[in-house]
Amino acid sequence: MEKVDLLVVGGGAAGMSAALAAAGAGPVSVLLVDREERLGGILPQCIHQGFGLGYFQRNLTGPEYAARIVAQMEGAAVSVRLNTTVLSLSQRRTAELSGPGGYEPVAFRRLILATGCREKTIGSLPVAGTRPAGVFTAGEAQRMINLRHWRPGKKVLVLGSGDLGLIMARRFVLEGCQVLGVVEQKGSCGGMVRNYRSCLLEHRIPLMTRTTVTQLHGEGRLTGVTLHHLDSGKEEQVACDTLITALGLIPERELLAGLGGKLPGWASLCGNCDYVHEIVDTVTAQAEELGRQVGMELLGRG
Ligand SMILES: Cc1cc2nc3c(=O)[nH]c(=O)nc-3n(C[C@H](O)[C@H](O)[C@H](O)COP(=O)(O)OP(=O)(O)OC[C@H]3O[C@@H](n4cnc5c(N)ncnc54)[C@H](O)[C@@H]3O)c2cc1C
Repeated sequence: MEKVDLLVVGGGAAGMSAALAAAGAGPVSVLLVDREERLGGILPQCIHQGFGLGYFQRNLTGPEYAARIVAQMEGAAVSVRLNTTVLSLSQRRTAELSGPGGYEPVAFRRLILATGCREKTIGSLPVAGTRPAGVFTAGEAQRMINLRHWRPGKKVLVLGSGDLGLIMARRFVLEGCQVLGVVEQKGSCGGMVRNYRSCLLEHRIPLMTRTTVTQLHGEGRLTGVTLHHLDSGKEEQVACDTLITALGLIPERELLAGLGGKLPGWASLCGNCDYVHEIVDTVTAQAEELGRQVGMELLGRG
């Protein structure tokens, strides 16, 4: 079985930064694994600006931010395995990997989980009606438009006014779609003020506060939703072919199930897998610090 000092799961900003810092501490063998075909995690699909203001003192797009870290990876003593999923972890400090070569078990001394986060879906809300096509999470829609060049629909309503919802509302307008508005159950916008201004105000997209979606309509494809106004109790039907849900993110820690749901002393979390960070700069800083500590520990200098 292949043996490494440090296994890093996830090649987003967190995983890359942790791996680089650990390898920079001295002669330790570091293996970084990601299920995608490229490094960067969520960053390559975030083509808007707003990344790196703190860490690089530059207003970068997601792909530009990723490219700067990927460039550092090129000369570093980190082995990278892409298109490879970590299926499970065991208490014996082994991981089961599934990659282009098939099943690949790996033994490690130390583990860093940098598996990012997942989106809550419409199923997490008490929404009645049918389950037609045309309901996508904001991240799915972003991936379709920015990486696959598909347009998921034409007449769009966004549910949830966090940063992801705001950014996707603007993205649909820029794609030539009609965006009916962003629906928010709270009394004010959930995202950053800078995103509220640049995404909604500048593109005249209405924000409907104290409102939620209670029913989906349509057979086959979505034809509309029922909106419920929380203060007046009134309901209205709105015609649309696409509902984008931006309902929040949950740290992705499914792999801990193989460890009884607990984090052993030889494993650490970083990035959005630890907690959902608002900006990538804090992800990089946290992961670097952790990587350095783990590297020193492996060298017996912790
Ligand atoms: C739409 C959107 C807009 C944003 N806008 C901004 C912004 O304007 N400015 C800003 O600073 N930040 C922004 N952020 C936040 C920032 O992009 C993220 O916080 C950061 O990139 C997360 O990095 P991460 O490495 O923790 O996770 P991710 O980038 O999600 O990386 C996790 C990686 O783990 C891999 N993985 C997961 N499970 C496995 C497994 N079992 N086996 C192998 N690989 C696995 C995944 O494939 C993925 O590559 C935005 C985020 C989103 C989603």
